[in-house]
Amino acid sequence: MTANKVALKNMTEEELKEFLKSIGEKPFRGSQIFSWIYKGAKTFDDMNNIPKSLREKLEEVSYIGNIKLELALESKTDKCKKYLFELNDGNIIETVMMDYGDRITVCISNQVGCRMGCKFCASTLEGLIRNLEPWEILDQIMKVQEDTNKRVSNLVLMGSGEPLDNFENTKKFFKLVNEKNGLNIGYRHITLSTCGVVPKIYEFADLQLPINLALSLHSPFDEERKKIMPVANAYKIDDIIKACKYYIQKTNRRVTFEYSLIRGVNDSKKEADAIVKLLKGMLCHVNLIPINKVEERDFERPDKTYIYKFRDILEKNNIPATVRISMGSDIGGACGQLRRKHK
Ligand code: SAH
Repeated sequence: MTANKVALKNMTEEELKEFLKSIGEKPFRGSQIFSWIYKGAKTFDDMNNIPKSLREKLEEVSYIGNIKLELALESKTDKCKKYLFELNDGNIIETVMMDYGDRITVCISNQVGCRMGCKFCASTLEGLIRNLEPWEILDQIMKVQEDTNKRVSNLVLMGSGEPLDNFENTKKFFKLVNEKNGLNIGYRHITLSTCGVVPKIYEFADLQLPINLALSLHSPFDEERKKIMPVANAYKIDDIIKACKYYIQKTNRRVTFEYSLIRGVNDSKKEADAIVKLLKGMLCHVNLIPINKVEERDFERPDKTYIYKFRDILEKNNIPATVRISMGSDIGGACGQLRRKHK
């Protein structure tokens, strides 16, 4: 149905104007169509100020690009909701909406599956199926807005997939989501999380966008990190830290280090002390995430007192640290619980 056709949601307003020109139309039609798309038009027939002949022409060469809401699960314990969306090829992706009252944050997926292989994460259990197109990343936000009738203000690229392993599409997505007449979400309200693909962190820094970088550290020791994160075989922690410093230098943004606490694996004083040494003097912040349950894995959380002891060591040594209470674990929507499904 969509073979050889272009997705209009993959285009900025300027690109849509160019596209209309390229099919022999006036550029202002591009702006009109752009505006319809962001008003939520689902078909060309919804666009009632576009002549019928042009609507038919568009139908032949393009499609708008809509993912389909398959299921929404509302958490009973938190103000959050998990969405399952079906893509045109039948794959299912997951998206999570968190309502903090004064802001709505959406956790979006970037790939169907993931090839990074982190041992504690559900998204990677079946490997990478495919990258998401820019519009498929974008449309998750549009569909959440339609469902909640509220404006999404903040984004975290922390759903399934590794954004720096789908960097071209992610870059395009950043352009689209920032469009003035589109979703208009400011870069400062976006956080990209990566397991540490070092060369791509440099490329990302060179874009010089004020996007927040979050780095999944999970161990301050290379050898230990390798046991839980295969990507650590490719990149050393020292090189990750250098890349993060470069990111700070280029963007002036504080980097977040994510640290999932796993009982008996990475939760002792030895690790806390090493983190202090590693991050001393850096414009950063540590986010401690008690590991969330993934059925196929037998990792457990440390006891609460352990978690706060760990945080206190960092804090006492001037490393700002917070404990992230994951929302939505009752609906499988917490960090690391998003997984691939299919019909
Ligand atoms: N691929 C990116 C983004 C995905 S996950 C990355 O690796 O950063 C977002 C965060 O959740 C990462 O820090 C990830 O390591 C963490 N995470 C994965 N599984 C988890 C689990 N079971 N419990 C807690 N955090 C988890």
